[in-house]
Amino acid sequence: MKEYKMLINGRLVNAVAGKTYPVINPATEEMVTDLPLGGLEEVNIAVQAAKSAFPIWSKIPTSERCRLVKEIAMGIRENADELAKLDTLDHGTPVKMAFHMAMASASCLDFAADTARTMMSEMIPASANTLTYTKKEAVGVVALITPWNAPLMMICDKLGGILATGNTCVVKPPSIDSLEALKLAEIISKVNLPPGTVNIITGPGGLVGNALSSHPDVNMVAFTGSCETGKVIFENASRTVKKIGMELGGKNPYIVLKDADLDVAISKIVMSQYINTGMICAAPGRIYVHESIHDEFVKRFVERAKTITAGDPNDEKTFMGPLVSAEHRDKVEALIKSGIDEGATLLLGGKRPTEPPLNRGYYVLPTVFSNVTSEMMIYSEEIFGPVACIVKFSSEEEVIRAANDNLFGLCAAVFTKDTAKGIRFANELQAGTVWINEGLTASTDLPWGGYKESGFGKVSGVKGVHEFTQEKLVWVDLYGGNMQPLK
Ligand code: NAP
Repeated sequence: MKEYKMLINGRLVNAVAGKTYPVINPATEEMVTDLPLGGLEEVNIAVQAAKSAFPIWSKIPTSERCRLVKEIAMGIRENADELAKLDTLDHGTPVKMAFHMAMASASCLDFAADTARTMMSEMIPASANTLTYTKKEAVGVVALITPWNAPLMMICDKLGGILATGNTCVVKPPSIDSLEALKLAEIISKVNLPPGTVNIITGPGGLVGNALSSHPDVNMVAFTGSCETGKVIFENASRTVKKIGMELGGKNPYIVLKDADLDVAISKIVMSQYINTGMICAAPGRIYVHESIHDEFVKRFVERAKTITAGDPNDEKTFMGPLVSAEHRDKVEALIKSGIDEGATLLLGGKRPTEPPLNRGYYVLPTVFSNVTSEMMIYSEEIFGPVACIVKFSSEEEVIRAANDNLFGLCAAVFTKDTAKGIRFANELQAGTVWINEGLTASTDLPWGGYKESGFGKVSGVKGVHEFTQEKLVWVDLYGGNMQPLK
């Protein structure tokens, strides 16, 4: 396999100390290649490069900056086949979805570039004697720290806004699944950006991520990942009062009311549960079903879940690939075991496939639990795997209370034929997104972000681009300092 390198100060480089770490294919458990293992030295060089590039990049006319961001998007599209292959190899993303993810990542950059051209200033005529306007300015050096669950998308949905509004950045991709980030480094190295505008360094979060989020010359940290890591970063960043964006975990309630169209609810929830092998922050965490339709729902949900094609991500027919790593599979399996031990009813899956070739790789079959109750670990903990947890409820007040009685507040879904009732539920649910008769879905055009311990700030949409700016008010006395009342 060809060599992939970090991008620091405009150059593709190996780690200063020459250290590397292995990339493992989660579908075969085989080593694919090794990648440069960065550390503190790389952090300092990259932050310095981003800091030096900032006055140059932020003063380039917005139109030109946005053109260059679109060139990165174009580079992603031109390399979408290779990016998709790397996604399948490194993350186990089924081939069809992998190509789509690369194209969608490019769209994120385009959207940010289009948005930034129209949002940087606003005139507010507060008084006749003054000219007052606000001006959006870049924050400075942004540390972008991302998770492995959608490796390229989790970078690109923020990178466009960071760059188009004039910031420079140091990207720290996850240690598992960094291949696509380093392919992106190669693509960006061919775009004519001032050296240091984008730096991409690989290395352990506890070292590289920690140093970035504490670094005095980093002005903002944009983080997507677990709540646990988010809290560490929050603390680090608070010491120098950095601006922060936090996209954290979820344990999302999907609520099926008694008048729901069951065909719609089942097909949307099954898809939401098993896409990306359940490794999506927005996946259903607790599926609440009204007691009057519960048994019918459960029977049909299991039938539908049996039709999920789980297996080799290189096969065009596969919908669900492996989990990302042995460590993550252990975590998911431990939660499945806790569900069984705590008395939930296991209706499907709960185990690894045993037949070759799927007896190698980090596979766990689509799993369904019913009779899940609030005392169980699988009820409250984010599983981040292909495990559906179905909970019976009897009244609307009860289900709203239960849905909100959780640390997280990322998203929620309600299924009902009564749209007005769906909207009343949306008003009550403590979540950054509420879908009505829709399951897991997102758009580059729309803001995404959580309530409570699911984080704060938005990514995507116009608001997601605004996150990477700070606003200045300019106040001009039209009377040259000798303000007279107007005659
Ligand atoms: P994670 O373990 O928190 O890691 C995320 C990133 O943080 C990785 O790059 C990691 O580096 C780095 N990191 C680890 N320790 C750090 C430290 N002490 N200081 C700074 N950075 C550190 O999360 P994950 O397991 O990759 O991702 C899954 C989580 O992300 C889930 O909870 C999911 O819900 C959440 N997520 C949320 C959203 C959303 O939209 N809200 C979207 C996607 C994912 P290493 O990989 O090198 O450890």
